[in-house]
Amino acid sequence: MTSNSASATSASNGPASTAATISAPASAAPAASSTATPIPPASAISIDPAASDQRNLNDLMEQVMGVYSVSDDEGPLTDMVEAFLRAQPHLTVRRHGDTLVASTDFGKAHRVVLAGHLDTVPVIDNFPPLWLEPGDPLIREDVAADHPSERVIWGRGATDMKGSDAVLLFLSATLTDPKYDLTFVFYDHEEVAAEKNGLRKVVEAHPDWIVGDFAIIGEPTDCGIEGGCNGTMRFDVVAHGVAAHSARAWMGDNAIHKAAEILNRLNARENKAIDVDGLTYQEGLNATLICGGNGTNVIPDECRVHVNYRFAPDKTLTEAKALMMGADCGAELGNGEHVATGGVFEGFGIEMKDESPSARPGMDDPLVQSLVELVRERTGREPLAKLGWTDVARFSQLGIPAVNLGAGSPLLAHKHDEQLPETDLTLMAGILTDWLS
Ligand SMILES: [Zn+2]
Repeated sequence: MTSNSASATSASNGPASTAATISAPASAAPAASSTATPIPPASAISIDPAASDQRNLNDLMEQVMGVYSVSDDEGPLTDMVEAFLRAQPHLTVRRHGDTLVASTDFGKAHRVVLAGHLDTVPVIDNFPPLWLEPGDPLIREDVAADHPSERVIWGRGATDMKGSDAVLLFLSATLTDPKYDLTFVFYDHEEVAAEKNGLRKVVEAHPDWIVGDFAIIGEPTDCGIEGGCNGTMRFDVVAHGVAAHSARAWMGDNAIHKAAEILNRLNARENKAIDVDGLTYQEGLNATLICGGNGTNVIPDECRVHVNYRFAPDKTLTEAKALMMGADCGAELGNGEHVATGGVFEGFGIEMKDESPSARPGMDDPLVQSLVELVRERTGREPLAKLGWTDVARFSQLGIPAVNLGAGSPLLAHKHDEQLPETDLTLMAGILTDWLS
């Protein structure tokens, strides 16, 4: 789950201060009645074939949670995950930067990709992680209501997305005779700017490493399925005028006044909910910034309205652009301003700033259908549309249908009190083990 609001990292919680990280976090210091048990950093990732699934999943969760891995500091956790994957004789492991790709090669007819990011958003006094016993005051009321007699793991990354990482590591070791060939991807820099994204980098550098018929990304969904995603584009709509002294305004042409028409067109537009493959995507077309004028007594010669269009996956990026500015406007990233030849902003200047395609949910795929049925049976959840932009779209660009399915509540991602009840791990592991066996 990408962050757009990264907070400053507290130096005392950084990776270098190992001694300090053993004690409980200061501002979230457990109350007197707290049962909190801090989880110390692990030196290696391992499981015990003789132990129960819940025990192994809890151990894996402790091991990945105990290692600090805020974006830019994924290296130590990646090293540990790599060593664990390389110890599995049925996997071929490759590494590009801090991204790991581990594949089976059983010669199956289909291949499923399972992906998780190893980085987290910055720590806010929520590292090191804690185990909380049932009834502990640090357990959120909503979590306690759904899981009244359960232990809960608390701390940075618990839901986004080290719970799913732990489950994927478990599957990488235990699915030695799967129904499909499997490719596990553990990647860096998901929570920061797209150009740093490890999944994007590995796809660009080694497209042959990431192939498959279907992909699951373990972003938190409460073990439901969230399919596809809206595309997004951002661009300036530019009104031009003629500068003049405001005492002799008739000598000029006011660009800010002209921009009123841009806002009128935005107000006139009805943002629709659009059904794609049975899921509902809410579109949005909004001005998010406006600027114009360069003097208090100068008729402005330019006004820019920055527009963000979130479009449903019934449209390609090209089709969405045509709706905004006409099919032959010619405005592309980095090529400056072009006049809209049609669409909502016909006649105004357009300068593209950012564009990302949508992703169809691929719910008609038979592979997906069988997963949807299994998730419905285990959780009672119907698939939902993903509204934000996620790495699902990267797989879509490769022609691989993809969904999000992961442990933990998406509502707790990036929160100070991120936490995960332990049976979320066994629920996700059970669904995927049964679907893939
Ligand atoms: Zn995430």
